[in-house]
Amino acid sequence: MPDVSFPKVDPGDPNNSYEILSGEAKRALSRGSVDGVTAIDLGQGDCNALTTVWGHTVLYFDFGGGCHAGAHTHPTHETWGPRKLSPQQLAEKFDFSCKPTVIVSHWDHDHWYTSELVEDVRKLQWLGPRQPVAKNNLEAITKLDNLRCWPATLGEYELDLGSGRRLRIEKCKKPNSINQKKYDRNLDGLALFLKKMGWTKPTESIVMPGDAPWQCIPSLLANEGKIPGGAVGLFGYHHGSITHWTDETTKSMPKPAEKRTVKLLLTYGLTPAQKNSYNLAHPAAKARYHEAGWSPREDTAGKLPNDPPQPADVGNPATRGDRRLNLSPTVTMRLASMTRTSYTTLRNLLWKS
Ligand SMILES: [Zn+2]
Repeated sequence: MPDVSFPKVDPGDPNNSYEILSGEAKRALSRGSVDGVTAIDLGQGDCNALTTVWGHTVLYFDFGGGCHAGAHTHPTHETWGPRKLSPQQLAEKFDFSCKPTVIVSHWDHDHWYTSELVEDVRKLQWLGPRQPVAKNNLEAITKLDNLRCWPATLGEYELDLGSGRRLRIEKCKKPNSINQKKYDRNLDGLALFLKKMGWTKPTESIVMPGDAPWQCIPSLLANEGKIPGGAVGLFGYHHGSITHWTDETTKSMPKPAEKRTVKLLLTYGLTPAQKNSYNLAHPAAKARYHEAGWSPREDTAGKLPNDPPQPADVGNPATRGDRRLNLSPTVTMRLASMTRTSYTTLRNLLWKS
């Protein structure tokens, strides 16, 4: 797997520079801005699509899904009986029309497993952290035709997505406070921030940590979770787990944007019998996010919103599904909705008088 240098690091060497977005994705971005991220429900794992207002996917963050102990949670698994997705139905969940690059948060199988089921995604460009991978995964990883590695010396990189949107890719790092000898891929992968820009600074962000606890994202650790403009959307790290959760984790958790609608999203999978072998999402994690102002919450495994699956929902596909975090609408749309509100208020007043 070749390492890549980004223009910021090595501006002079055309052979060594690397463009993250495909030409097709850039063209789609010139026609419509990125307005949010869809968490695609593939069971116990992560697969997120950054899409434009016209619904085109310009980038995937992870391409995983339920495997190993979580295999029964994947929507293609036999256990879902007549409701299981066929290969064709699975393929219809994705949009490769803009040749989106797949950025992998880390090489745990639940973050790239679905690439083994969908041939077309293996031909796309992939970018991931250089990490030791499990031996029995090597063969499948080598089937990714265009895989490149994040440069070892690069801490972060910001990508202009046009129309005042930016993508920050940040390399995670195990802080000294995590005193664990065994190597853990969750701690040194890649995290993403989708940002909406004002004149000079971001006005809001959606944060995607992969499986990295908050203190492993250097900018969050250094700024105690403060992000310019605050965060409007948050993926709970590690599918709503509490691994390595200390006071430092709570402190480094992104702060919700003030006086705006925010939303927490947890991506995990349940079997038709509503089981998760990793005990996800963890009740303590849900409580801690709620306490920090991250409410309402939506889960890929559960009903909307904040509604845990009930026994009566067993095998009911309505209890699971794709979920979405949106950046807030643009100013023009906000003005339009304000006008609508004022009109409704006026009409109600007239009606009452
Ligand atoms: Zn994971």
